[in-house]
Amino acid sequence: MYVEVILPLDLRERYHYRLSASLRLRGRGLVGCRAVVSFGSKRFYTGIIRSVEASLPLGLAENKLKSIDEILDEEPIVSEQMIEQWAWVAEYYCCSLGSVLRTAMPRALLPESSTVVYACEDFEAQTPLSEQEYLFLDQLHQEPKRSLSLKALQQRLGRADLSRLCTLLTEIGAIYTEEVVRSSYKVRRQRVLRLPEEWMDEEKHDALLSTLSRAPKQQALMAELLDLFAERGWTSPLPRREVQASEPSRGALITALIKRGCLITEEEEISRLDAASTALAIRPNEELLPPPKLDKAVTLIYAHEVEYKEQLIASLVVQCLERGEQALLLSPSAYGGPSAARFISRLEAACSLHRVYHYHTMVSEEVRVEVYLRLARETEPSLVVGNRSALFLPLSRLGLIIVDEEHEYLYKQQHVAPRFHARDVAVWLGVRRACPVVLTSETPSAEVLFNTLRGKYGLIHTPRSSLDDGQSRCSIEVIDLSAERDKRSMRYGQIISRRMQCEVNEQLSKGQRSLLLQNRKGYAPHIVCAQCGERIRCHSCDVSMHYYQSLGRLSCSYCGYSRVLPTSCPSCSATTVETSYGSQPALRLVGYGSERVEEEACTLWGREHILRIDSVSLQSAKRIREISDQIASGEVDIVIGTQLIKGQPIWDNLGLIAIVQLETILGFPDFRADERAFQLLYQLRMRAVSARSGMDEPMRMLIQTTNPLNPFIESLRHEAYDDFIKSILSERQLLGFPPFTRLTYIHLHSFDETLVEAAGITLVCLLRRLLEHTEVFEAQRPYVGRIDGQYLRRIMLRRPYQVSYRQEREAMLEAEAMLRRQYPELSRVRIDYDVDPL
Ligand SMILES: [Zn+2]
Ligand SMILES: [Zn+2]
Repeated sequence: MYVEVILPLDLRERYHYRLSASLRLRGRGLVGCRAVVSFGSKRFYTGIIRSVEASLPLGLAENKLKSIDEILDEEPIVSEQMIEQWAWVAEYYCCSLGSVLRTAMPRALLPESSTVVYACEDFEAQTPLSEQEYLFLDQLHQEPKRSLSLKALQQRLGRADLSRLCTLLTEIGAIYTEEVVRSSYKVRRQRVLRLPEEWMDEEKHDALLSTLSRAPKQQALMAELLDLFAERGWTSPLPRREVQASEPSRGALITALIKRGCLITEEEEISRLDAASTALAIRPNEELLPPPKLDKAVTLIYAHEVEYKEQLIASLVVQCLERGEQALLLSPSAYGGPSAARFISRLEAACSLHRVYHYHTMVSEEVRVEVYLRLARETEPSLVVGNRSALFLPLSRLGLIIVDEEHEYLYKQQHVAPRFHARDVAVWLGVRRACPVVLTSETPSAEVLFNTLRGKYGLIHTPRSSLDDGQSRCSIEVIDLSAERDKRSMRYGQIISRRMQCEVNEQLSKGQRSLLLQNRKGYAPHIVCAQCGERIRCHSCDVSMHYYQSLGRLSCSYCGYSRVLPTSCPSCSATTVETSYGSQPALRLVGYGSERVEEEACTLWGREHILRIDSVSLQSAKRIREISDQIASGEVDIVIGTQLIKGQPIWDNLGLIAIVQLETILGFPDFRADERAFQLLYQLRMRAVSARSGMDEPMRMLIQTTNPLNPFIESLRHEAYDDFIKSILSERQLLGFPPFTRLTYIHLHSFDETLVEAAGITLVCLLRRLLEHTEVFEAQRPYVGRIDGQYLRRIMLRRPYQVSYRQEREAMLEAEAMLRRQYPELSRVRIDYDVDPL
């Protein structure tokens, strides 16, 4: 028999293996089990068995097939339904099944082999060793077991490429290597105490205790333990830690009792999930709204009021669980901020009779593995709260999918294949499994609003609050930064205008909070040499390096390369320049990030009551807690931050939202820039206004910009969210942008710019020949033309909404195959696809 295995590698071909006689006995139940197979010259991978075939698949030679090494599961952990979902994602997003597998399962479930290097004991060098060889062997001999993984060796020797050295040393008999497959997942165990069977009989207890009469402390403890065992029905174990928790000194007594044969000690597996969820059952149930009727397959809850939306979600989830089904709640910020956390814990309370599982980046890999395996084996009603990868969990009785805050950009996986959009995969999955999909948003995306306008999606409006979208409750004032600079009313290098200062002062005098929004992290986005005019760029990307004062370093936001701030210009080596003010440092920090705004704010208002929130300050869970404690203490008068402030509870008593530079919110001008910016500012305004309900005075919004005539500001001032999106939709219809058309980007990468250029031109020709209904645009150098040393080109495809994606996907793959066949010199160009790019 033969099996096809999906390997966790980016390969488009299918791979088959032979089943050995012993494994053959298991027959059909193999589909969906994990199998360890060798691939390439010596590496081992864990893949998923996709199908079992009795006869040799066409075109394969029996003697070329390798056998399966090991099957890791007794029962399948991937259903055929799930494999079908993976295949759809791979087809639609034009990527390999292997890359879908890598997203679909926790890494630790798919262990790969790593090379372990062993030193040969009896090795004697015949010829003198090179310095590198000597260092290598020396490192190995320092290890107690004289062996180390190749990865660890690489780290300790500080060298990435050791394979040649390994080969040389193997040849002279100094070392040997072995491929070892080891999972990073460790089962959690605990020491437990049991009562030996002979002592379970209560009548013997007096005799047992009397043998301990000369050790009164042991006797007392034993008596206590016997009571505990009696409560638990004699056979259940007692965790040793629990017994010792009250008095650590009991450790020695327990050891003595074990020695005397009064107790048995054992190791036992425990689940990480049970420990985490014990606290839930004690919370009270709150009164829920009746669940709304869902007439269509997909429904949008257009939430004007967060509270009401949360109640609707809770009632839908409870209804689903009571039907005996599983509910999946996707939340981009399940882990992001206290407001999301509060909602999730309320929801947990509402479902207190059922299991709630968490599956996102804030839970450990081990917990994710246990959630996955438990869901693969059990089908009891439960709620899963997760991020986009939770869509791939084994939920065989899925009865409801909720995509909370569907407009969030985090739902799209951006940097690695599959570049899927969780909302769109959720809609596909819902239709496929006949389970309702609920999207929620305060500011729905243009795509979703378009589908509700044309009646494809159902719509539930939560009642509008009396605040009327907050428009009349928020006054907007625009400050022209260029004019302020021309008038010389702002000092050189300053970013907070006089007007903004006055406004913040007024808020301070009223005891209200101000928010200064600058949607750019770090201190300065550019460092420019005043002597030669060069910017400091990343050595492997075509971008300026950002300066982070809090880290004291320059860092590239594309490849992560970082370095200390140099004292002289890397291009002309100037350290100072002569100006009319005298000698000045040559390197100047240009532009404003949140750290620089914070610095300026601190000189204006003092450091104590200012808090900065951005991805740098929110880096650790500990810091996130500290920040929310600080806000809760009421001591923060001025909050400075990037858009990440959205998830933080800063809204109480907020009187002013000051946009320091509108341009940092509009970001790079693409057709979604306005939508994105409007969503952000609209949400901020809504949250602030609803937190002010009951206050007479309107909310203030100040916008500093160098382009005060930007029509965006007019819309923000006058339009309700719906009207804004409607105007955006008519504009996109006119220009032929989504949702009226579908876009796909083809990205080409190469270390050689002429190759990537040639591949771009050739691919465009091939695609134009193959595609009838899809427009193929010229290959272009994107805004950032080189990342991580590779030159980039981008081809845009645009197809009418009604035309199916299938023909286009087939043509894309065919064109790629033709390119590789006909122009072998271009085959080093990497090509990947971004379908429905954001
Ligand atoms: Zn870089
Ligand atoms: Zn210079």
